[in-house]
Amino acid sequence: MIPDSHTHTCFSFDSDASPESMCRAALVRGMSEIAITDHVDLNPLDGGYGYFQSDEQWEALARCRARLDGRVRVHIGLECGEPHRFPQEVSALLSAHSYDVILGSIHWMGNHSVETAEFFEGRDIHEGIILYLEELACLAREGDYDVLAHPDIIRRAVFRRFGWTDLDWTPYEAPMRRVLRTVAERGKALEVNTSYRRRGMGPPGPSVQVLRWFREEGGQFITLGSDAHRPEEVGADFGEALTMVRAAGFESITVFRHRMPHRIPV
Ligand SMILES: [Zn+2]
Ligand SMILES: [Zn+2]
Repeated sequence: MIPDSHTHTCFSFDSDASPESMCRAALVRGMSEIAITDHVDLNPLDGGYGYFQSDEQWEALARCRARLDGRVRVHIGLECGEPHRFPQEVSALLSAHSYDVILGSIHWMGNHSVETAEFFEGRDIHEGIILYLEELACLAREGDYDVLAHPDIIRRAVFRRFGWTDLDWTPYEAPMRRVLRTVAERGKALEVNTSYRRRGMGPPGPSVQVLRWFREEGGQFITLGSDAHRPEEVGADFGEALTMVRAAGFESITVFRHRMPHRIPV
């Protein structure tokens, strides 16, 4: 079973799952590794702003790792919201502990959440997506991260505003390829996130088309992330995600250990 590289615990403001319950869920699903990637939200408008306590998370996960030693490898990570906007805060966090994996995410563009219908207030779909891709390019280029998480998260706003369960990226091929090329050139990974499926927002993403572009731009590393906030969500819809990754021509899935990519043939 492919490792889940994107999960949350009670150290995230929007989860009350214990670290052990998440790691045991991975074990039950036959995973030999799981990454816990709690939210670090640095935009003051975010519900999780000020919630994350790095020492507490580290100590709890280190205990969990020791208890499960030999059965499932527990990787300690973070999901940093807009790390390119808060480089000093991120750098201070990363120097405090030796994390295994850092996810770079966009949740906010200034005062606008990229997950709600309001994102498209006063903007048409085209304008909104172009703006989103500009921000994503900035994160891809400047952020300190290992994995560009849910690179198509704008689908959440698109779904809530227009009701679409998928997005055809063809009109945005050039700006999307620029993002993917940057990720590839920096040796970073792209995440296939399966949480859309559970939210009734369509298939895991990004689409096979985008994954293929990533491969053509030199991308080598793909991670799978359920974005689980509860134990029963760990590894959800990984079969579908794996089929997509293979259809795009990738023959391995990556897991990060000590912030170094390790490929698992699939
Ligand atoms: Zn996220
Ligand atoms: Zn997440």
